[in-house]
Amino acid sequence: MSHVMNTYARLPVAFERGDGVWLWDTQGKRYLDALAGIAVCGLGHAHPRFTRVVQEQVGRLIHTSNIYEIVAQEKLGDRLAAISGMDNAFFCNSGCEANEAAIKLARLYGHKKGVEAPAIVVMDKAFHGRTIATLTATGSRKVQAGFEPLLPGFVRVPFDDLDAVRRVAANNRSVVAVLVELIQGEGGVNVCGADYLAGLRAICDENKWLLMLDEVQSGTGRTGRWFAYEHSGVRPDVVTLAKGLANGVPIGTCMAAGEASTLFKQGNHGSTFGGNPLACAAALENLAIIEDDGLMQNAIEIGDHMRALFRERFAGVAGVRDIRGAGLMIGIELAVPCADLVSRALEAGLLINVTVDTVIRLLPPMIYTREHAETAVNTLVPLVLDLLSKPAAGEPAPKAA
Ligand code: PLP
Repeated sequence: MSHVMNTYARLPVAFERGDGVWLWDTQGKRYLDALAGIAVCGLGHAHPRFTRVVQEQVGRLIHTSNIYEIVAQEKLGDRLAAISGMDNAFFCNSGCEANEAAIKLARLYGHKKGVEAPAIVVMDKAFHGRTIATLTATGSRKVQAGFEPLLPGFVRVPFDDLDAVRRVAANNRSVVAVLVELIQGEGGVNVCGADYLAGLRAICDENKWLLMLDEVQSGTGRTGRWFAYEHSGVRPDVVTLAKGLANGVPIGTCMAAGEASTLFKQGNHGSTFGGNPLACAAALENLAIIEDDGLMQNAIEIGDHMRALFRERFAGVAGVRDIRGAGLMIGIELAVPCADLVSRALEAGLLINVTVDTVIRLLPPMIYTREHAETAVNTLVPLVLDLLSKPAAGEPAPKAA
């Protein structure tokens, strides 16, 4: 009998070791990783240069405390400021904590402006984490159910709908910030339109709101730039990162620019582990490798290649509704629920994910070659076609157009 709380529907497989894009289970079977621990292991597994630095840091110093100066944390703050255009970073250990920090910043900002009950605009289908504040910000009843009362101070609008945000601006004087993922990961790899971010920036500027971006999944180079917002040349006020920032060593950060970057005062916020020497050394090396090895350019090339291959192979297949994403965030939306594909792919030696029931989500390591990409596509396509050829309960099978 397991003594671990039953919070995950786990697949019946345990991995013993990894090497690059490959993982081996306890029975010795090899799998191609097209998920990277859900957008975490951008460098793949057991990356030699990364491993050397982490091992060396473990042998020297793992943790001290934020009551002392931490040299690696200062260095990581400098590095993140340089690549993000933000001024200051707060370090924590996960995406939900990074978003908690952003929510706290927005509330401080609101109170400073004299708003008694500050509110944040959040989106349908958003995912921001599972703490009480971040699950309130999340746009999924499934994530929230059972944890009521949710927190006050959030106003929900449809994603990628600037008019809806404008209506909130016209009617709600308590709003002080917008929190949004530019590509909704858990929500189905939903990509916003090209003008959305600039539109949000303009609304935020007009109303003196903070523009806060959750780049926990899309950040650290996965879309081909350090941050997804760089594709539109718009600078936010607050950005959160976690997942891929230290290639699997737990870390999160909430970064802010301008007024928002100095709102936290001593004693306002903290974390025991946040930004410790091990996590910061790992993040610094991860960022250096991504840059030195051209992995962001690779994410663009391989991601585009995979989407093109899927488009070619699924051309005319009526059950495939959409193929979308940016860089190595790839979503394939089907007309039918497809959660079964995860175990079928596992049997075939490929690690994938399905989100919101009908969207196949691929988040491969950023070290993928064209050959890895083609192996993943060649493994997945027949499984999808097979699934689509079988009628769902009580329905005729979808026909090829
Ligand atoms: N924000 C986004 C966009 C995410 O995708 C996730 C996790 O999937 C989170 C926040 C929460 O991160 P964590 O699980 O590290 O708390």
